[in-house]
Amino acid sequence: MIRRPLAAAALALCGVGAVACGGAAVSDTGASDAGASATTAQIERPAATQKHASDATGQAATGPADSEMDITTVPGTRTAALSDATAKPLAGKTVVIDPGHNGGNYRHTKEINRLVNISNQKKACDTTGTSTNDGYTEAAFTWDVSNKLAKLLKARGATVKLTRSRHTEWGPCIDQRAAIGNKANADAAISIHGDGAAAHLRGFHIIMPKKIGGPVDAVVDDSARLGKAVRDAFRRGTGLPYSNYIGRQALNYRSDLGGLNLSRVPKIFIECGNMRNPTDAAKFKDRKFRQRMAKALADGLENYLLATH
Ligand SMILES: [Zn+2]
Repeated sequence: MIRRPLAAAALALCGVGAVACGGAAVSDTGASDAGASATTAQIERPAATQKHASDATGQAATGPADSEMDITTVPGTRTAALSDATAKPLAGKTVVIDPGHNGGNYRHTKEINRLVNISNQKKACDTTGTSTNDGYTEAAFTWDVSNKLAKLLKARGATVKLTRSRHTEWGPCIDQRAAIGNKANADAAISIHGDGAAAHLRGFHIIMPKKIGGPVDAVVDDSARLGKAVRDAFRRGTGLPYSNYIGRQALNYRSDLGGLNLSRVPKIFIECGNMRNPTDAAKFKDRKFRQRMAKALADGLENYLLATH
C-alpha cells in the first residue's frame, strides 16, 4: 500500500511487523492485526529467475496467433503487416512498471523515512509496505507480478522498464520512481501494490492522479483513461471484486502520492487487493493467480495503449 508518510515510530513498527504502512483511516485499522510472523517473510525468488508453468501458459496466449499467421498461405505485404501487428501489437510503445516498495526497506528506516518533495507537500522517500498475516510481503508480491507483467508486455512488443532491478534492497524513493517514468517518456506507467486494510475488507482499486497545479496536471485525463482500462481488464481477467472500502467502482483519485504527483506521463497505481483479508491473501500467495493478475494488467495496458483517444 502507499499511504501517508510515516512517523519514525510507525515506521519501526512497519519494519518489525510489515504492518499496513501509512494507510488511510480505514486501512490504518488493519495495522492492529499485524503479527510478528511477518519477520519470517517468505521472500520468493523473482519470476525472472524461475520457470513457471503458468508463465508458459501466459506466453502461450500470444503463441498460437503467431503460428497461425506464420503458416498462412496468402502471400503479400498486407498479410505480413497484419502478422507483425498481431504478434507485436505494442511495438513502439514504452511501459514503465513500478514494483511498489522494496524487500530491504525495513532495514533502512533512516533512508526511506527521509522526506522528499512531491510538489504539493513533502513525504517519506518510501515505506516498507504491508504483508499477508503469514508474512508474504507486499514487496515480494509487487516484484513478482511486475516481472510477470514485464515478460508479457515484452512478448507483445513493448519496451519495458522497471523502477528497480532488485527486490532485496531499499528504495528508490517515490520521486525517483516517478522520474524513471518521465525519463523513459513512457506511454503508460503503472505502480503495483497490495493494500493492508482491516481483515474484513476486500477487493482491488485503482488510484489515479488529480490536478495539483504541478507536473501531473497535463496527464490527469490520460491517466484516468488508463485507470479505467486497467480496472475493466483486471476485473474481467481476475474475477476479483471492486474494493468495498475505497473508491467508487474501484476508482480512486488522490493528490498525496509522489509517484503520481511528479509523473509527466500517464500513470496509475493499482492496489491489487487487501493482503490482510484471508480471501484476497490466498490469491496473492497463489503463483498461478499472480500470473493471471499480470495477464489482466497486460490486457488493460494494451487496451489503453491501442485505443485512439
Ligand atoms: Zn504499497
